[in-house]
Amino acid sequence: MQTLRVALGERAYPIHIGAGILDDAALYRALLGKGRVAIVTDDTVAPLYLGRVRRALAGAGAEPLEIVVEAGEQAKRWETVDRICDAMLAAHCGRDALVIALGGGVVGDLAGFVAAIYQRGVAFLQVPTTLLSQVDTTVGGKTGIKHARGKNMLGAFHPPRAVIADVSVLGTLPDRELSAGLAEVIKHGFILDSAFTAWLEENIERLLARDADALTHAVRRSCEIKAAVVAGDEREQGQRALLNFGHTFGHAIEAGAGYGTWLHGEAVGAGMVMAAELSVRTGLLDPAARERVRALTARSRLPVQGPAVATDRFLELMAVDKKAVGGQIRFILLEAVGRAVLRGGLDEALVRGAIEACTAVRPAAATQ
Ligand code: NAD
Ligand code: MG
Repeated sequence: MQTLRVALGERAYPIHIGAGILDDAALYRALLGKGRVAIVTDDTVAPLYLGRVRRALAGAGAEPLEIVVEAGEQAKRWETVDRICDAMLAAHCGRDALVIALGGGVVGDLAGFVAAIYQRGVAFLQVPTTLLSQVDTTVGGKTGIKHARGKNMLGAFHPPRAVIADVSVLGTLPDRELSAGLAEVIKHGFILDSAFTAWLEENIERLLARDADALTHAVRRSCEIKAAVVAGDEREQGQRALLNFGHTFGHAIEAGAGYGTWLHGEAVGAGMVMAAELSVRTGLLDPAARERVRALTARSRLPVQGPAVATDRFLELMAVDKKAVGGQIRFILLEAVGRAVLRGGLDEALVRGAIEACTAVRPAAATQ
C-alpha cells in the first residue's frame, strides 16, 4: 500500500492506494470516530463490495447504517439527498457521524454533498471503486448534485477525512469505464508530466490488463499531479484550468452526441486529440507530439474522432461551456507533451479546422 498526503487549504488528508485494502479493518479503525457510520453505495457496487466493507467495519467495531441508491447519474438529485438524510436522521446519526462513499464518482459526489450539509457538516470517507473516481474525484474537495437548469449549480467544497482506493476492485469494472478513467490519467501526463506520459506509453497494456502494480502507480501519480495543481489554486482559476485539457471540446462532444451516449472520459479522449490538433494549427505544438497524444489516446481504447456534429453546432456548444469568458472561448493547449497553457482569442478558422480534422463530418480533411 502507498499513502499520499493531499494538502487542501488548512486541511490535509491521506489517500491510501493499493490492492486488497478495501477490507483492511486496521485502516478503518484508524479513521472511525465515536459516532455512527453511514455507508452510501449504489445497487451495482453493493452486491460486489458492500459485504466486505461491512465485515471490515465490524472488525473495527462499527455497525454501519447502509443506504443503497440506484446506479447511474440520475441518483445525483435532491430526492436522493433527502432520502439519505432521512435515513440518517431516523438512525440518530449525530454531528459525530461518518459518511462513507463506496462507489464511483456519482456516489462520491452525492454522499460527499450529504456529508457537507448534514447537521452543517460531518466527516466523510471516500472508498472510490472506479478508476475515474480514484484519480479525479478524490482530489479537490468538490461535491454536488445536478439540477435540471444546469450542471454544477448545487454543491459544496467538503474534502474527505481520508480516501481508501483499492485498485483490485477495478477488476470488475466494465472495459468502457476503465478506458474512461484512463482518459483523465493520460490527461494528467499530457498537461504536466512528460515522464509520466512516457511511463504510460510503456505501460498502457498493463493498465488495460488491470495489473495491480501498474494501476497503483498510475492512480498515485495522477492524484499527485491533480493535488499539486489544486493546492496551488484551490478555487478554480489559473492553473486549475489546465485540468480541463480536452474538456472544452469534450463537453461539446457529450452535448452534441446527446448526454449519456458518450461517457465523459470518451469525450475527453477525442477532445484531447482535438486540442492537440488545435495546438499544432496555432503553431504551438510539434505534429509529432500531436501524434503521441493521438496514439496514447487510441491505445487507451478511447475514441480519437468526434461524432458527426456539424461544425457550426459544435462551435455553438463550445461557446456555452463555462470556460467561455466574455464571449471568448479559452482553450487549454499544449506547447509540448507535459506542458499545457491557457489561450484565448484564437482565430475561429483555426478552431473550425481542428474540429473538422477530428470529426466524422469531413473525413477528407482528417489528418490521420
Ligand atoms: P459512476 O459512479 O456512475 O460509475 C460508473 C458505473 O460503474 C456505475 O454504473 C457504477 O455502479 C459502476 N461501478 C462502480 N464501481 C464498480 C466496480 N468496481 N465494478 C463494477 N462496476 C462498478 O461514474 P464515475 O465515472 O465513477 O463518476 C462520474 C461522476 O463523477 C459524474 O457524476 C461526475 O460529475 C463526477 N465527477 C466528480 C468530480 C469531483 O471532483 N467531484 C470529478 C470528476 C467527475
Ligand atoms: Mg473530467
